[in-house]
Parts: sequence; C-alpha cells; structure tokens
Amino acid sequence: MCPSITKNPSSTENPPARRKLIKLHGVGVKLAEKLAKLHLISVEDLLFHLPSRYQDRTRLSHIGSLYPGAEAVIAGEIVVSTILFGKRRSLVCKIQDGSGTLGLRFFHFSASQKEKLEKGCQVLCYGEVRLGSGGLEMVHPEYKTYKEVIPALDNTLTPVYPTTEGVTQHRLRDVTEQALAQLNKEKVLAEYLPLSIREQFGLSSLAEAIQFIHRPPPNIRQEDIQTGEHPSLQRLAFEELLTHHLSLLRLRYQIRQQGAPALVPQTNKLSCFLDNLSFTLTKAQQRVVNEIQQDMAKQAPMLRLVQGDVGSGKTIVAAIAALTAIDSGKQAAIMAPTEILAEQHYENFKIWFEPLGIKVAWLSGKLKGKKRQVQLDLIASGDAKAIVGTHALFQNEVKFHDLAMVTIDEQHRFGVHQRLALKEKAQATGYIPHQLIMTATPIPRTLAMSAYADLDTSVIDELPPGRTPIKTVVIENTRRHQVVERVRNACQEKKQCYWVCTLIDESEALQCQAAEDTATQLTEVLPELKIALVHGRLKSSEKAEVMARFKNGEVDLLIATTVIEVGVDVPNASVMVIENPERLGLAQLHQLRGRVGRGTVQSYCVLLYQSPLSPHGKARLGIMRESSDGFVIAEKDLELRGPGEVLGTRQTGELQFRIADLIRDEALLEQTKLAAQEIIQHHPEAIEPLVNRWLGQKEQYGQV
Ligand code: ADP
Ligand code: MG
Repeated sequence: MCPSITKNPSSTENPPARRKLIKLHGVGVKLAEKLAKLHLISVEDLLFHLPSRYQDRTRLSHIGSLYPGAEAVIAGEIVVSTILFGKRRSLVCKIQDGSGTLGLRFFHFSASQKEKLEKGCQVLCYGEVRLGSGGLEMVHPEYKTYKEVIPALDNTLTPVYPTTEGVTQHRLRDVTEQALAQLNKEKVLAEYLPLSIREQFGLSSLAEAIQFIHRPPPNIRQEDIQTGEHPSLQRLAFEELLTHHLSLLRLRYQIRQQGAPALVPQTNKLSCFLDNLSFTLTKAQQRVVNEIQQDMAKQAPMLRLVQGDVGSGKTIVAAIAALTAIDSGKQAAIMAPTEILAEQHYENFKIWFEPLGIKVAWLSGKLKGKKRQVQLDLIASGDAKAIVGTHALFQNEVKFHDLAMVTIDEQHRFGVHQRLALKEKAQATGYIPHQLIMTATPIPRTLAMSAYADLDTSVIDELPPGRTPIKTVVIENTRRHQVVERVRNACQEKKQCYWVCTLIDESEALQCQAAEDTATQLTEVLPELKIALVHGRLKSSEKAEVMARFKNGEVDLLIATTVIEVGVDVPNASVMVIENPERLGLAQLHQLRGRVGRGTVQSYCVLLYQSPLSPHGKARLGIMRESSDGFVIAEKDLELRGPGEVLGTRQTGELQFRIADLIRDEALLEQTKLAAQEIIQHHPEAIEPLVNRWLGQKEQYGQV
C-alpha cells in the first residue's frame, strides 16, 4: 500500500461546494436556520439532499382521461365559478377542455383569486384528482391563468424533497435550482472518482448523476429512481460504499503500520496442550489455526475475524492463539462480552494452561478492591501470561506487561471503537497486539464484506464429530403445561434443561423479574427437580456459583435470562425452552439454541410463543424450525431485520448509509472492493476528500 494514504492533503480547505447556503439568492438567516434542521449547511449538502419522489408536470392530460388519485396537469376554460356555502365556504370552478369537465375547489381564497378565476378565463392546473360530491375535482390545485397560448410545461420531472416545517417545496426547488446552476457552471462539486474507475465500472460523473436525480427527464421510470436502482443512484451508492470500504482499509493500514512482534512458539507447550485434550481438532479448526499462526509470525499485527457456527469450537482456537503468544514469551488476553462467558473462559483457560505452568489472570468490572489490585499487579508484572476478562480489560488503569495477542470473543457486541481502544494500549510497548475477533454466529456475507473490510477472515465450517442435530419445535404458550411435563421427564432421565425468559425492549430489571416469577412457578409445579436461577442482577460470584452447579450436574433445570445467550457450554444440557421467541432476532435465537446439542444425546429446543404471531414472527420461527445452519439463518436474519439490527450497530450509527442499501446494492460490494484496491494503489489522494464527503465526523476513529 502506498504510504500517502494516511496523509492529509492540504487540498481540504473549503472547496466551492462548502459554500454556505446563505450565499444563495433568497436565503436569509431564518431560512438558513430552517434548512440547517435538515442538516443542510452548504451547497454540497443541498446537492446531496435528494428528492423522495417526483411529480410529472411535463405532459398535459385530457380531463376526460382523469381518474381519482391521478396527479395531472390539465388546461381548459372556466365555465362556472361560484362560491358555495356548505359546511365550509368554498370557491368552486368547473373547467372544460373539450374532453370533459373537472371541478376546482378552494377553501381558502382571496377576493383577487375569485376575480381571476372567472367564467371564460383559461387556466393551467396541477393537482391530485379526487372524487367530490359533484364528480371529479382538484382541491387547491397549483394553477396559472393564461390567454390563448398554453404556457410551456416543465421539461423535467418535478422533485418532491424531504422537508421540515416552514420550508415549502417551492423554496427547496428554488434553492436546489440555484445549486444545480452552480454545479453546471462553476463545477462546485469536485469529482473524486478517477476517470479510469468510472470507465471500468461504467459510472457517470458525479455532477451528471446529481443533476439527473434532482431534475430527471420525463419518460424514465420513476420507480427506478425511487427504489435506488437507477444508474444515477447506483453511481452515488457506489461512491458511498467505496468510501466506507476505503476508510476501513485505511484504518487497517494505520494499525498494521505500527508493527507487532513476530510470535513463534519456542517450546513444546502447544503439543503438550493438544495431547492433553480429549479430542483432536477438526480439519476446519486446524486450517484456521494455521491461518492464525501464519499471521502471528509476521511483524504486522494480525487483524483476523474467525467466523464459526455456534458450537464449532472457537474457544480452542482462541486458546491456541493465546498459547502461541505465551510460548514466545508474551502475554495474551481474551475478552468476552459478558461476565458469565468471561468466567467460563477463565475456568477453561485455568484447566488448560495451569498444568503447563502458565498463570491466568482474571479481570471484570465487578472485581473490586484488593482482589482487583492483585490481578492488576499480576497483569502489570507479567507474572500472568494469560489474561481473561470483560471489557474491563480496556480500562486505563489496566497496564499490561507485554501484551502481544488479543482475542475478542463474540464480536457482535463490540464495535470498531473497541478494536481501536487496543491501539492506545499499544503506546506503552510501542507495538500493537495481534488481534483475533471471533463472532458468536456467522455474519451474512454482505455484512462481513462491508463491516469487516479491515479484517482477514477465517471460517470454521465444520462442527466437531458426533453431534446430533437439535430438534426444534414451535409451541403456543397455551400448551405450556405439556412443555413443563416434557422438562420433568427429561430431567428425570438425568438430562439437564435451560428455561430462558426473554423480554426485549424492556429493562434488565424487568427481565430479571420475569425470570424470578417463572422460577417461582416452575418450582411449585416441579417440586422434585433441583431448580436454579441465573440473571444479570446476581453478583458475579453468585452467577459463577450457579453456573458451576449446573455444569456439575447439581442443578436439573436452569432458569435464565438471555445472559446465558453467548458461549455458555454445558454439554449435558439437552433441552432448551425459550419463552417469547417471537421477540428475538434469529441470530440471537440461534445463539441461545446453540447452548444445547453439544453432547451426543438428541437435544430439543422448544420455542414457546405467545399468540397471535405476526406474519413476520411466524416466518422467523419457521426458519428456526427448518434450519440449524447458522450461515443460512444469518442471511435470513439480514433479510428480515436489516443490517443495523443484525450487527447491533443501529444505535451507534456505524454502517448507516445515506444512499447505499446493503441488501439492494449487494452486487456493488465486489466492485467497490476492487475499486478500493485500485484507488489505494494508484489514486491515494482521493481517499481523504471522499472520506470527508461521506463520513465526515463519523470517521474520527480512523485518525491515528
Ligand atoms: P463455540 O464455537 O460456540 O464457541 P465452543 O468453543 O464453546 O464453541 O465449543 C463447543 C464444545 O465443543 C466444547 O465443549 C468444546 O470442548 C467442544 N469441542 C471443540 N472442538 C472440538 C473437537 N475438535 N472435537 C470435539 N469436541 C470439540
Ligand atoms: Mg464461544
């Protein structure tokens, strides 16, 4: 990559397009303030403020051809003009054009209007036709009177812009008209896409595309523009997706620039570790481990995403990566999104690593006082080589001795920002740790290509042998008692069960309450079972204790909130009941369901839904019943819920595009990926201005 991609070229001073709107004719302070509410500050903003739909005022319609709902331009002579005093006073005219008669109705009108719209006068009208009491009519049409010669009609479609109170369409059309005139005469909008790229991908210039979208010629299919499928909109979507991709690649470049220690194992710890396992790695695990180790042997930080379905065995892969770092004398950390999961990794890592003489440290937000200090000291002195924790690991007070490898488990809940926080951790050592990001469930390809363009990807596409596919049943809550019986029977056969109470969009407190209530009820009806409850309000030591008892088989039925969603691994558990599954996303359900089916016995997942189901809800549960493939489910989830929800970035605004739509524009992703490479190699000067145009402030995280 060319080093100049991180430079800030000096050409970012205000180009003409950054001109303030107040410079436009007819825009005073008041209007400028209102436009600012639409985020319109500069001429460029205005040019990117695209119509939401269009009106066709380019053709004259015959009155005789009108129908209710039509929007049309007609011209004719007024044959009747009267004021009616019904419920509301109104001015009513009838006009004729030889093909038929149409009413015009005005509830608000001035004396001079009444005078102008006299019998015998000729008038050109635009409006929506509706069926009134006396036949077809237009209410408050826009109109112009004329003599003999019908005034010229528009020669482009008329844009209708998204607007705010106090800014009329007329105003917006006027100011965009001025902006477009500047666009054509003064070239206010810089073209950042090199000609070679535009030619290669058949893209028009930006100015042409913008002009087209604001004032499209007649005879085009409006739907194509409205759905974003028209080449002009695709031209903009292309530039936006390209820019997004470039910003991630730049981020990657900046991180990779800082260097990392090459990590190559020095002793036989790894083979000891593998020998101690009760199983051998699957081919897919082996392949992914190789990919990781190749990255780690390099002097640039690894930035790798590991995707694998629930239960594909990602934890072992993370352990091997950690061990690779530790065996070359460095520290390795693994971070998990929830306390329960972190705790479980901690237990596993202790079992795996302590026999090899490796000390494991533990850190979570809830660890306080002296105990915390002990762990912080172990981390800072380098006595602990493996460090397990929650995002507490990122806090400033945590000083690592020589952290060289970080695994972030179940990335769904971490954003780009957390990845970047690691850069700061690097300041002390002068290098950046190698980074492995493991997803909880597979990510649809389109999202992986766009949200993780800065990462290399490995896929564990195979489950460990001997797993029996989970049977999923969908049952209405009215048959709850049958489910309870099923749980009773399963537990009596020494199987263990989860019962998950979900409430989304509700506070955690309410969730915990729901779980507590369910626990009370189930304890009453199932007195012979050992029942325990785990939820987010328990102290972490209490949570850990409950989980340990469940894992040891001392608890038959575990009632839980979605805190157990990610990662919890209790192979003997083979029944999972999920209440209100219709409220959860597919990926989340798949993740929950993945808590069972980890052993050799047949596992069941019962989706206990609340009637009535929306068609959407029905579709979702149907997919869960039919598929157990996380990759398939992820694609469906994306279709049903959209990218923001699937990645959990809706609130953070990451992956929110102005024009592009990841689902609609999937085909562009391959192209923009190629184009991004081309730009980085041959036109790096285009990156900065593109990023400023499309990402602006959002991109701050990309700065070193
Ligand atoms: P996930 O990918 O969902 O994080 P885990 O790492 O929790 O999956 O692994 C799920 C279960 O599979 C664990 O009990 C783990 O010990 C077991 N496991 C992992 N790899 C293998 C393998 N190659 N053969 C058999 N069992 C394995
Ligand atoms: Mg896991």
